[in-house]
Amino acid sequence: MDLETAKKDFRDVVEKLHAFQHAMGIMEYDALTTAPSDSAEGRGKSMGILSRYTYDLTAGEKTQQAVAYLKEHLDELDELTAREVTEFDKRNEYTRSIPADEYVRYRMLLNDADAVWHKAKENSDFASFEPLLQEIFDSNKRFATYYKPDEDPYDVLLDRYEKGMNKEMLDKFFSGLREKIVPLIKQIAEKEQIDSDFVNLPYPIDKQKEFSSYLMDVIGIDKTHCIIGETEHPFTTGFNRKDVRITTHYHLNDFTRSMYSVIHEGGHALYELHSGAKYDGTAIAGGSSMSIHESQSRFYENLIGRSREFIGYIFPKLREIFPEQTAGHTAEDFYRAINKSEPSLIRIYADELTYPLHIMVRYEIEKAVMSGKAEVKDLPELWNEKMKEYLGVDVPDDRNGVLQDSHWSGGSIGYFPSYALGSAYGAQMLYHMKKDFDVAADVAKGDISRVTGWLTERIYQHCRMYDPGDLLKMACGEEFDPHYFTDYLTEKYTDLYDL
Ligand code: ZN
Repeated sequence: MDLETAKKDFRDVVEKLHAFQHAMGIMEYDALTTAPSDSAEGRGKSMGILSRYTYDLTAGEKTQQAVAYLKEHLDELDELTAREVTEFDKRNEYTRSIPADEYVRYRMLLNDADAVWHKAKENSDFASFEPLLQEIFDSNKRFATYYKPDEDPYDVLLDRYEKGMNKEMLDKFFSGLREKIVPLIKQIAEKEQIDSDFVNLPYPIDKQKEFSSYLMDVIGIDKTHCIIGETEHPFTTGFNRKDVRITTHYHLNDFTRSMYSVIHEGGHALYELHSGAKYDGTAIAGGSSMSIHESQSRFYENLIGRSREFIGYIFPKLREIFPEQTAGHTAEDFYRAINKSEPSLIRIYADELTYPLHIMVRYEIEKAVMSGKAEVKDLPELWNEKMKEYLGVDVPDDRNGVLQDSHWSGGSIGYFPSYALGSAYGAQMLYHMKKDFDVAADVAKGDISRVTGWLTERIYQHCRMYDPGDLLKMACGEEFDPHYFTDYLTEKYTDLYDL
């Protein structure tokens, strides 16, 4: 083996993996948007075969030899290739530690689980999903142990989504949030609630689609590189920086649900669309981490999209598209309606203030199952107990409870904390952005370009060149500090509810 051969072999694998992931990504996107509901079987088989190829490519001897050689000659590589090799190796070490047959079986299990979860959710029938969920949790626990036998399995999974994250840090983070958020929720409960009835009038779906298209324009999404599809649980997928897909779900009697899905997923899309061209097709293309990605979706959704200035700017368009539904209401009415805070059942439709408590429920459940303190069969009960304890709400059925999210059926154990961390990262970024220019004045004019420019310069263009903690530090000039987030929430809700 020599350096040139090793580099060529490595590049060849990275390119082939991109192609396989592209194909499988399209199949996944199709499954979740337009494929017929009873079509999982054939797709599962094809996915199994394609997964086998990607596994062999990643874990194959030729790849291992090239990577091992390059790892020994890191100082002879340029900065980008060196980072690619290190990242590639780290990411695949986990997959490699899983026996091939088990890996393929797991990929097929996830394919089945998605279809079963959809039906279980529709029928509010946890029992039908339980055996698969048990297998997903068991598999993840086993995989974590194959990878790092001496470490706590849940810590291993958390670190995969957010490098450096563990239970100890999250326990501290969440208890800090709870300490600030719960008193605000209690104070709000004693105040007169905001009237938001007009957003729950019927807003025809075809008009909502028109509004979605407008919102994509306002936040600066280039539609020649990004389209919107419809799905049960909105998500974004990016195949490369010139082909990104966002999705939404339209609700006739609450158009704000789709509105904020579009802006949230639009935030993810902006990240992908503005990633650095020099990283195209490399092993470090894409976002730095799940939390950094969520910091961006939640940045546009909440810090921008739920701001008074943004609402002031888009309200005339809303009036134009829905004149009857919005008659007699002002932009301020709408601002208050979309920021109304009240404990509720569904995470993705929760307001900014109660949202982190929804994440806490999931975090604590994952922690309990992974440590063996709770069993999968008891999850509905545990879920309902925690929702009562943290949010004071009674869960009527599993559809509105433990079955609401797609993450567990997709095998994403350890992902949820990313949302809360992302919200906190975003608030810290906004604080520093405001020191550079008048963010509110730009947003009031409907001009998001400097916002996206600031984030592109500091976050998007760098792809996975830096670990999330380092990237945040580079962007903000300081370590992660959750107090910006709790300060932001306190200020916003004190103003809204006159606390
Ligand atoms: Zn998201």
